[in-house]
Amino acid sequence: MLEDRVDFVLEVGVAGSADARASAAAALLERLPGLSDHRCSTGCDHPFAEELAITEPAHLFEHLVLEIMSCAGSPRSVHGETRWRKGDDAFRVSVYDDDDAVCVGAARLALCMIDDAFAGRAVRDPRDAIERLRSLRAEPSRKRGVIDPARAAVLRYPATPEPGAHTMWT
Ligand SMILES: [Zn+2]
Repeated sequence: MLEDRVDFVLEVGVAGSADARASAAAALLERLPGLSDHRCSTGCDHPFAEELAITEPAHLFEHLVLEIMSCAGSPRSVHGETRWRKGDDAFRVSVYDDDDAVCVGAARLALCMIDDAFAGRAVRDPRDAIERLRSLRAEPSRKRGVIDPARAAVLRYPATPEPGAHTMWT
């Protein structure tokens, strides 16, 4: 049972075009092919690669974090959820993780990769960073303390949802 949780608050920025999102998703999938095996437990009955191309970047971020954590040795049971926070113009992405330090490191790497993809740059190769994350992993006997996630993440590329709309993915 995973009892740790890290929350990320992602600010909503300017919408990317459908084409920009699709090519960003394709570039990210190329770097992290394990993403194509992901599933959402809510409202996603088409292949996940297609979902990635059309979903909000905050939800994309959630799945990148989970995939990077998995590559760095976390069990596949790590999971997350993405909620639109009414009135805040922000998404909250919660990750139920096995190691907070690895989770926050994965989030930083995910944001860099998303930034590359949406800026039209070549998406960085994550393999060295993933190996560094693996080495951060705390032994159970010296589990790290709480890390303040509020300083960890700002995402600038999501579309603007309908005002007041409730959106949630897992
Ligand atoms: Zn999902």
